[in-house]
Amino acid sequence: MILILLGPPGAGKGTQAQRLEDKHGLIQLSTGDMLRAAVAAGTEVGRQAKAVMDRGELVSDDIITGIISDRLDQPDCKSGVILDGFPRTEAQAEALDRMLADKGMKLDAVIEMKTDDKVLVERITGRYTCAKCGAGYHDKFLKPKVDGVCDKCGGTEFTRRSDDNAETVKSRLNAYHAQTAPLLPYYRGKGILKQVDGMAPIDEVTAQIEAVLKTI
Ligand code: ADP
Ligand code: AMP
Repeated sequence: MILILLGPPGAGKGTQAQRLEDKHGLIQLSTGDMLRAAVAAGTEVGRQAKAVMDRGELVSDDIITGIISDRLDQPDCKSGVILDGFPRTEAQAEALDRMLADKGMKLDAVIEMKTDDKVLVERITGRYTCAKCGAGYHDKFLKPKVDGVCDKCGGTEFTRRSDDNAETVKSRLNAYHAQTAPLLPYYRGKGILKQVDGMAPIDEVTAQIEAVLKTI
């Protein structure tokens, strides 16, 4: 199964993708995570991407589609993937259509996580991640069961993203509305767009996504 989770930064894509991985054995492909790994590793791609990401703008379509195409060729993706943060432009969506056709793969559904912009700054500025296993948390909305200890791996170190600040969030939301929101009519036209209420509590969003999966 190939799914796209589509929504603005902070909509809950990564949170729900981690749950889909755990429950259905799908692989989360987050282009943001891949770029952050490239930045941390100091690769050429990472070097080019870092300044763009810090400004809250979008990295070039060629870099992104190259990364995704290579990743889809790896054997673990045969069991199915959740695309999180990709595609983000019409050029990326068209490139995805072409690469899936070339690889004999099919896009099953695009799930829009509908949210109001007004909740996103609080979600993003409160977000943090386990440094050991990458599990996502929130200062207010998703705390670990034991304060300071990761539920999943017991890790005690956590990180926050440098672009998760109120200033950069504004540019990232502008980029979403200008460049990514036009993908909604693109996928509606293909008859594969589904919607869930991204404003609902996290467990309720999970339940809505599970209900959508039953219809596929
Ligand atoms: P995205 O991957 O779309 O940028 P995340 O999944 O990282 O967003 O979610 C952003 C932050 O908001 C995280 O800290 C997460 O715990 C929290 N969050 C996710 N979904 C919800 C929700 N439905 N209600 C409240 N907080 C949420
Ligand atoms: P995310 O982790 O999805 O919030 O992405 C963090 C940043 O990485 C974005 O603000 C962009 O600069 C960059 N990025 C991630 N995915 C893409 C993509 N599909 N196209 C262009 N830039 C991306």
